[in-house]
This record gives sequence, structure tokens and C-alpha cells, in this order.
Amino acid sequence: MLLRHTTEKEIDRKGLTVNAAKTCQPVGAMYASLGIHGCLPHSHGSQGCCSYHRSALTRHYKEPVMAATSSFTEGSSVFGGQANLLQAITTIFSVYDPEIIAVHSTCLSETIGDDLHQIVKKASDDGKVPEGKHIIQAATPSYVGSHVTGYSNMLTAIVKYFAVKTDEVKRQVNILSGWVEPADMRELKRIAKVMGIKTVLAPDTSDVLDTPLTGKFELYPKGGTTIPELVSMGDSMKTVAIGEWATKDAAVALDNQCKVPFELCNLPIGLRATDRFISALAKAGAVSVPAEIERERGRLMDLITDMHQYFYGKRVALYGDPDQLFPLCEFLLDIDMVPAYVISGTPGKSFSKRMEAIFGDKIDQVKFKNGAQADTFQLHQWIKQEGVDLLIGNTYGKYIARDEKIPFVRFGFPTMDRIGHQYFSTIGYMGAIRILEKILDSIMQYQDETSTEEKFELVM
Ligand code: SF4
Repeated sequence: MLLRHTTEKEIDRKGLTVNAAKTCQPVGAMYASLGIHGCLPHSHGSQGCCSYHRSALTRHYKEPVMAATSSFTEGSSVFGGQANLLQAITTIFSVYDPEIIAVHSTCLSETIGDDLHQIVKKASDDGKVPEGKHIIQAATPSYVGSHVTGYSNMLTAIVKYFAVKTDEVKRQVNILSGWVEPADMRELKRIAKVMGIKTVLAPDTSDVLDTPLTGKFELYPKGGTTIPELVSMGDSMKTVAIGEWATKDAAVALDNQCKVPFELCNLPIGLRATDRFISALAKAGAVSVPAEIERERGRLMDLITDMHQYFYGKRVALYGDPDQLFPLCEFLLDIDMVPAYVISGTPGKSFSKRMEAIFGDKIDQVKFKNGAQADTFQLHQWIKQEGVDLLIGNTYGKYIARDEKIPFVRFGFPTMDRIGHQYFSTIGYMGAIRILEKILDSIMQYQDETSTEEKFELVM
């Protein structure tokens, strides 16, 4: 196996990352852009970067991801990419006719100092942006942050560009969503509908990256937040921003620009994070929680009770995005599992504080690390020092799981070796049921495969 040389002995590393627990900023910017209706993402850099961003998303969502590139050559790398981007804008509007071009930078264009704001202004001044069409831009240098930072930067740019405050306050609530699956975005809208709250969800990749097969290719599928919806966000009563790392900057920008107050919540993953989200949404929409939502919670509680005996005391290693890890750790603690190792490649100074708040007096039971040097190699070393009963994370964990013979639950981006995950929500109470099913299936499957004949049970 590829990881057979991983040793349990840790050596202090300063400038080396092995098997990073993150991907690059523009991937996140591209994903956020795809959640806007009629938007064509544009990667200002080399063709190779754009190919990577597109393929990372296509491999996860199993959908064609359309995006344009400034297609840098050696010349543009030396003299700057302005001419390429101006030409690209003309070509894109005349050939592909999007409503919006969402331009993000790359390592190369940032390093040579291309000023996207100035280039886009020049395009506009030169009459290259047709009437009623828009270009937004976000700086996404990938040598800082991660795909989550890129997502946040693009979402902030979208909100800043479109949201407008008028004199009319609309009876609607904004939901700024962190990085979740299209099915999760659909679930957010369902929950809001059940609660009787009119919402604007941004971004919204449902019906963009989980489109039905109709036999007809649509470059701009029917999903995505529309321009009128984005504009109206400035008149909403309140914003509920879910996922601090991915949405806080956008929520603050919207508040500063349009005086729409916001409440910041975790992604509603698991029991308590969903409780907090439902309560924030109910408060923002000035409604009470309907019986249907309470019944969903009750079903989750019933399932936790039924499954608890199999979860109790099991040690778990997990890695991924902070916005997913915090509520997931909290949920694992709620079902009496033991999150033993937690890794995120996404930097952020408040990571440790947030972990301490979640674990409280159990903080000594967990080893955790985030930032550029927090990688899955480190996680593997910890697992070698003291094993775990379950591994949770994206596709790349399969090597560790195989080497160490650990049950493995795929969760987070990217999941490239399985199909269908984007159709099943893991947020809200119903999503929590799905997570529990996946965890227990994985543990039981492992038990069936490794138990002796006498212990091989038909009924668990
Ligand atoms: S060069 Fe930078 S932007 Fe391009 S794919 Fe690599 S990390 Fe991403």
C-alpha cells in the first residue's frame, strides 16, 4: 500500500505537508459560483489550474462542471494576464451568454500581481459587458487558506456585488449556506418551507449539480440563486449564516452594506447543531417550531436510543472542514462515541477555542490540529500510536482505512470513489439519521467481516 512507510514516530515538521487535509481556494470559489443561476465561473490563471478545479468538482458531483479560463501562457505569466481576461470576457459573453461571469484568481495570477478589480473595471469601461450582464471577482490565492476560504471569498463577493437595500423590508430570511451538498441545500429549503418561512438561500447548488437526466444538455441548469433573489437579500429581515468559516465574512458584509442583522450558527449536522439552527431560523422568521419538525427530532432521538449500545465508547478519527468537524464532533459526543483525533487543513486561529468549547472537560481525550501542517499523514501516525474504531473523512482516507483495517465512513469533499452522496442530505434531523445509519452500517459490516464463526450473528 502507498502508506506502508508511515511510522508512528512523529518528527517535528515545519515546511512540509504530506497528504493535505484540504484542497485549493479556487475549487471553493467555483463551487460557490455554481450556486448562482446563470453563472459561469472563470479561472484567471493557467489551463491546468482550471482543469484541476473542474475535475475535482466533477469527480465529486458526477456532473459536468463548466468553467472558463484565462489560459495563461509563458507570455501572460511575465507580462500579466489582463489581455487574456479581456479577450475571455468578450468571447464568453458572445459565445456562452451567461448572466454572470464569476472570476477568481489563482496562485499564478496572484503572484504576478494581476489586479482583478482593475481589469474587470476596464472591461466595463471598454463596453465589454453587455447591458444587464455582470462580472464579479474574488481573490483566491491558494497558498493561503483552503477551498473553504475560496468559497467564503466568492460568497462574500457575490453578496457585496448584488445585495441592495431599499426602503421596503421584505418578510424573508436570508440563509447563507456553508459548503454542503446539493441535497443539503434542498433540505434547507424544505425545512424553511415546513416552518412557513420565506427564505433566500445563497448559494444554492441544488438543481445545478444534481440535475435530472432529460436528454438535453443545459449549460445553465434551472437551479441556483437568481439575481433578483440576491438583490432582495439587502431588504431581508435577518440573515442566518451557517458555517462560520464559509459564511461569516459574507454575513458581516451584508450587515455592513445593508444593515441586515445576522446570526451565525454551525452547519446543522447532528442533534444540537440542528436544534440551534431551527431555533435561529424560528427566531429570524418570527414563527414557532411546527410539530412536523418536532416529530423529525423525535425520530432521531428514537434511533439514537436504539443504536446507542453499538456506539458507546468507540474511538473515532476524523478530518475535513472546520464547519463540518465542529458539529460532527459534538454529535459523536452526544451519542457517546469518543472523537480521539481531529485534523483540518483549513487554517483559522479560533479552531482550538472552538474545540475546547465543544469538548469542555473532555478536551484531554482528543488530539487535534488545523492549518497547513495538519495533514492526514499526521492523523495516520496518531492512529498508529493508538488505534481507533472508526475513520470519518473524504475519499483520501481509504488508504489509511485499508492499511489499518478500520471501518470508514466517507464524509465531506471530495468523495470521488462513491456515487450518489450528493442525493442524500446529512443535515437537519433527517440528515442526522442518515449519518447514524452510515456509521452503524460501517461498524456492523466490519464486525461481520472480522468476527469468528461463533460470533457471526444473524440478528444484531
Ligand atoms: S497552482 Fe494554485 S490555484 Fe492552481 S491548482 Fe495549484 S493550488 Fe490551485
